[in-house]
Parts: sequence; structure tokens; C-alpha cells
Amino acid sequence: MKILVTGGAGFIGSTVVRRLLSAGHRVVVADLLTYAGSRANLEAVADDPGLAFEAADICDARAIGDIFQRHRPEAVLHLAAESHVDRSIDGPASFIRTNVDGTGVLLEAARAHWRALTAPARDAFRFVHVSTDEVFGTLGAHGRFSEASPYRPNSPYAASKAAADHLVRAWHATYDLPTMVVSASNTYGPRQFPEKLIPLTLIRAVRGEALPVYGRGENVRDWLHVDDHANALLAVLERGAAGRSYCIGGGCELANIDVVRTLCRLLDEASPRADGLPHESAIAFVADRPGHDLRYALDSSRAAAELGWRPRVRFHDGLRDTVRWYLDNRPWWEAILRGGAYGGERLGLASDGPEAGQ
Ligand code: NAD
Repeated sequence: MKILVTGGAGFIGSTVVRRLLSAGHRVVVADLLTYAGSRANLEAVADDPGLAFEAADICDARAIGDIFQRHRPEAVLHLAAESHVDRSIDGPASFIRTNVDGTGVLLEAARAHWRALTAPARDAFRFVHVSTDEVFGTLGAHGRFSEASPYRPNSPYAASKAAADHLVRAWHATYDLPTMVVSASNTYGPRQFPEKLIPLTLIRAVRGEALPVYGRGENVRDWLHVDDHANALLAVLERGAAGRSYCIGGGCELANIDVVRTLCRLLDEASPRADGLPHESAIAFVADRPGHDLRYALDSSRAAAELGWRPRVRFHDGLRDTVRWYLDNRPWWEAILRGGAYGGERLGLASDGPEAGQ
């Protein structure tokens, strides 16, 4: 199958691209290469004849229409997004632009392409939209979100993803475009941009810096390894039903402080501090994120029953391998820190008031 992957130069997208190519699919990546995207993430498959790369903005209707015309994809995996909650607090405009407007542009381009296909190709076509458990808002101590949970997004990021989900659903209900929505939980693994909790903690620890934990670190996330996430997207693509949504959770709930402590212990073995102190000694509790959701957890039983998908990577194994990857690939993250797009600083305190120009 020939698959258009938006955001294929990002963390999850590049993992999905490698997975699709190894399964024998052809892939067209459309990616704007924002601060979060990099061709380096696709280095291992750069010479694969099955891969084409298009530097394009999903908000640019002409460029996206042109990509559909030239490549004639049989499916779309839509991952391109502004993805960091803290940045959405500091500057929501780019989230509304890419995540909402961009998804609208992509849906319209996909619909125009799909309508012109032969009947069998139209039936086989799929548009898989990659979303997040954050659209459902926050849980208390008990229960899990499922596909039936109401939408209650709390951050600008979550609200922009929720809006995109509604567009995707409406394009199925109104135009019959065979769309599917995947609500996935917090994902971790190699090549995650250093602004996110696990790589940020890891990199700061290696550099001997303080390890910031928001609030008291009590916020619980349902951790999903990026390989399990990629396999889930493949399963949805191959076996998912048009118009359906799927919750994809790691089945591994952990408070942020426990994630950071586990990371510290792994680093004590793999990269001990020069002063002999345990890495935990550098943990520093800092001001909480405004509107910080307390807990996310997903019930993935629909994905298990209908797609045969289950998470395979145990958190401790996945985290140990992730630590190893960041230790072995210092040039990858040092280039990001040197490049100036992000230097490890605190984001998302909403202290600067409304964005300039809004
Ligand atoms: P990422 O920030 O690492 O990558 C996003 C990619 O999208 C980058 O390559 C970037 O260049 C590209 N992009 C951004 N704006 C674009 C635009 N206007 N046009 C074209 N490309 C653009 O994000 P990620 O963590 O890999 O997340 C991928 C998707 O999965 C997102 O839709 C995100 O909402 C969703 N998701 C992420 C997680 C997670 O924990 N990381 C969990 C659930 C869902």
C-alpha cells in the first residue's frame, strides 16, 4: 500500500515510517520540519526506494493537493501537529493553525482525491487521524477513558486536538470519507524531542542539571512505548473499521515522580554522576503546569478485541532501552540544544500574557 504520513519526521511519525517500510509499504512523508521535525529521524531509511519526502505545510491547500495528485496515496496516517502542552499554554495560535486548520485542509484534499478513485479503491481508502487521550480531560483516582467518554479538553493543545477529532468524525458522517480516530496515551521512546518529560529528565541528568518535576509529581499518565504505538496505527490501518475510533493505551499507569525516580535509578547504573551522588538528589519540585490534568488512563479493550492489538513492551524494558538510546545518540540531542530551537528551559507558565499579535 502507498501511505501518506503527515508529520513523518517527528518522534512517532518517524517510528511509524520505519515500521511501514519494513512491512513492505511505500511511504510519502509530508512534513514542514518545524523545530520538532528532522530529516535525521529518518536517516536509517533515507535511501529506501519506498520512501518519498515532501517538505510541506499541511495548512497549505495547494501544496497538499499537489502531493495527493502526484503520489496518489491509498491511505493517510495523519500525525502532523503541534504536540507540546506547555508550548500551547505559551502560544496557542500555532496549535489552532496546524492542528485544527491543517487537519481541515488535509481532510478536504483527501476527500477530493478519494472521490476521484475507482469504487474498489474508494472502499479500501483509509484516513487515520492520530489523536490523544488528553481530549477527554482529566480522571480522578478511579476509572479509565474509553471511546464512549465525553470530550472535555483542558489545555489549548488538547482542545485543538479535540477540534481536529470532530472534523475527522464529521467528514465521515457527512461525506462518507473512511476516517478513523486513534486516541493514544503518553508515548515514550527514542527520538522524542527533548522538551517532553522523559527525554528532558534524561538529558538534564546527563548534563548534571537539576531535574524539574511539576507540582508534587503526582500526575498519572498511561505510558505507551513508541513501537507499540506504531504497531497500533498499523493495526488500525489494516483492520480498523471506517468511522470508528480506538483507544490505544500502554496499560502502565505511573505518577510522574515515579517515572523520574525510575529514570534516575537506570541512570545511576548506565551513567553515574561524577560526584557519586544518586541522580535522585537532583530532583527539584517546581511550579505546577496551569490546568494540569491529574490522571489519564485508557481502556484499550476495543483495540484488543477488534484489532488484536495489545501493548508488548514492558515499561521498565522500554525505559532502559530509551536511556541507552539517548546515551548512545548524544549528537542527535546535542544538535537540537545547539540549534537554539530549545535549550532545556521551562515552558508553559503562561506568565507572559496573551501572545503578541493575537
Ligand atoms: P512531534 O512534535 O515529535 O512531531 C510532529 C511533527 O509534525 C514534526 O515532524 C513537525 O515538523 C510536523 N509538523 C508540525 N506542524 C506541521 C505542519 N503545519 N505541516 C506539516 N508538518 C508539521 O510529535 P509526536 O510526539 O511525534 O506526535 C505525533 C502525533 O501523535 C501528534 O498528532 C500528537 O498529537 C499525537 N500524539 C502524541 C502523543 C505523545 O505522547 N507524543 C500521544 C498521543 C498522541
